[in-house]
Amino acid sequence: MARTRRPAYTSSQMATNAEFAVSRLASVNPSTGEVLGELDSAGPVEVRAAVAGARAAQADWDARGISDRVRVLTRFQQILLARKTDVARRITEETGKPTVEALLTEVLVVLDAARFLIDNAFAILREQKLSHGNLAMKSKSGRILQEPYGVVGIISPWNYPFSIPATETLAALVAGNTVVLKPSELTPLVALELQTLLRGAGVPDNVFQVLPGDGATGAVLVSSEIDKLVFTGSVATGRRIAEIAARKLLPVVLELGGKDPMLVLEDADLDVASGGAVWGAFMNAGQTCLSVERCYVHQSLYPAFLDACCEKARKLRVGNGIDPATEIGPMINERQVRVVESQIEDAKQRGARVLLGGARLRECGPTFFAPTVLADVDHTMRVMQEETFGPVLPIMPFRDDAEGVRMANDSEFGLAASVWTKDRAHGQRVARQIKAGTVMVNDVVSCFSISEAPHGGVKSSGLGRTHGRWGLEEMVRVKYLDSDRIPRMKKIWWFGYGGGFAGEMESFVDLLYASSLREKIKAGFRSVGSLWRRKL
Ligand code: NAD
Repeated sequence: MARTRRPAYTSSQMATNAEFAVSRLASVNPSTGEVLGELDSAGPVEVRAAVAGARAAQADWDARGISDRVRVLTRFQQILLARKTDVARRITEETGKPTVEALLTEVLVVLDAARFLIDNAFAILREQKLSHGNLAMKSKSGRILQEPYGVVGIISPWNYPFSIPATETLAALVAGNTVVLKPSELTPLVALELQTLLRGAGVPDNVFQVLPGDGATGAVLVSSEIDKLVFTGSVATGRRIAEIAARKLLPVVLELGGKDPMLVLEDADLDVASGGAVWGAFMNAGQTCLSVERCYVHQSLYPAFLDACCEKARKLRVGNGIDPATEIGPMINERQVRVVESQIEDAKQRGARVLLGGARLRECGPTFFAPTVLADVDHTMRVMQEETFGPVLPIMPFRDDAEGVRMANDSEFGLAASVWTKDRAHGQRVARQIKAGTVMVNDVVSCFSISEAPHGGVKSSGLGRTHGRWGLEEMVRVKYLDSDRIPRMKKIWWFGYGGGFAGEMESFVDLLYASSLREKIKAGFRSVGSLWRRKL
């Protein structure tokens, strides 16, 4: 079941195709170890050809107009709806997640993203008149055009192999871009499923292309002639990409890792909050960017909250995601399991107590990990600082809201957070103090399925936004089109300075900004001579 390994590729230069010649990817079902398919990795030649093809196809795609592209999205939505069960099953096979999660957190999210774009793309992207308040420029009429970048590169991770690249792709396409997608090397088949759906909806071959491959293929795509990059993945890879992008001023959106805090306030509903903690920490086997990575509980609730979480987590059914009874599937691979193991070991050595789990469930398979609840954790531990990305719920008490907020903000990450309370106003007050791209009050993760809501982080969690109007606007360049209404008039600020011009212009500035009407009128008289000045 080993995937083909190659040395990490970090250079911004194009590799030679020879380095890629023998490279093949194996897609493996993490629940069973079954090889689902083998594919050739795309090398520099394929990447260049794909980007060139995408560039050649872009003008025609753009020329079709938004209404026509919205019709394509509508067909895509209908095809996906009809094929939802197959697509969810394919996602489960390649990631291990329960099929119901594949349906709700992937297929449904994409159906809704399509709905949002179908309903709103035209209104958001249409040409608009720009009014302005500068008296000196009153002869000018402005328009805002939102033009596609051209070729958008998308590099995506394995944990949501359908919803992440699909939502980004739909936004890029509807705006008139063509797309070259480099999916995770762990989930190429789901990306090819997306390609099949889009082709079925009428997206031409070169308008959307998938390039299977690992980081090396991704690095070549970053260095290629794309016009914009939307990257979702780890902070380490994001930083590497940002360095290369900076050198060539490639605009990027970076959706990176998180260490999402959950704050359970003194007035929280214990049963609801513990249910939210267990779901937020363990869904998708904890491999979710928006999640519960660390949990802070008011000290008055701490012992009861620990008990409630353990009781709920103990009941979770771990197994192959294809079984409808399964609630937690396997982790994606051995490497990810070892990260989790080493963080738990570090926490134990520093005094954490493992209340539940803490080890693999080898009877289920090599990468199944027991839902784990940790108590007595603190911020010296890696499990409270680094992204865990596994089914681990570390829980720590706090004394009051101020301390809880301090703890939540004590992190290099700022993707999302959640606040739990029976008092919404209280929750919103606390939520406003948390430094994150998204804060939910009394829920977690589910905001990803609100297509109107922006998604993205602050601090090391990334740059830019996907989803909603903000995600759509990332796919266009804003152009300002200005036209003068009096084409036969020379402008008063053109050459021909000297004489009283400087004084007249001082008066003109006073006319614009003096606070009293009397001053304005006086300044107006003093400046009026400039209108008849001789210009070059
Ligand atoms: P990763 O960074 O290892 O890989 C992500 C993608 O980048 C893959 O397609 C990979 O092949 C590619 N890649 C690797 N090296 C590259 C390079 N040098 N140049 C170009 N591309 C390269 O991340 P992963 O393990 O696939 O995903 C898990 C991470 O993604 C976690 O940190 C998680 O928090 C994050 N994530 C963030 C969001 C978000 O929206 N903020 C969503 C999902 C996952």
